[in-house]
Amino acid sequence: MKILKGGCLCGAVEYEIKDDLIYSGYCHCSECRRWTGAPFSSTGGVKASDFKLNKGKSLLASFSKGENSTSYFCTKCSSNLYGEVPEYNMTYVMLGTLSQEPTLAPQWHIYTGSKVEWFKITDNLPQYQEGLIKA
Ligand SMILES: [Zn+2]
Ligand SMILES: [Zn+2]
Repeated sequence: MKILKGGCLCGAVEYEIKDDLIYSGYCHCSECRRWTGAPFSSTGGVKASDFKLNKGKSLLASFSKGENSTSYFCTKCSSNLYGEVPEYNMTYVMLGTLSQEPTLAPQWHIYTGSKVEWFKITDNLPQYQEGLIKA
């Protein structure tokens, strides 16, 4: 299995994942907007055991949105890097922090009901007004 490297803007934090994304997609919810500072987030999830932090652990800080999701960012450059969802034994990464292309490109847009008007979706991926039903 191919390994994909990723890291933050300043280079202090580095991680790697197996190129075996369980999902990959865009989220247009208002929380992701605040969190990323961008009109939507681009994330991909792997099994928790397929994620490895290689460098910079002491520089990470975390934020928990709720009981079931903790996201990590670099305190030197503030890059949002990844998050843990223990309930699903999954770790997601911010796709923009990967140094290489994942095999699984984003598959959908979720929470398009909350999307900002000024961003127009021009691809043909499926769009969902809210989240996807968890399997
Ligand atoms: Zn950094
Ligand atoms: Zn979201």
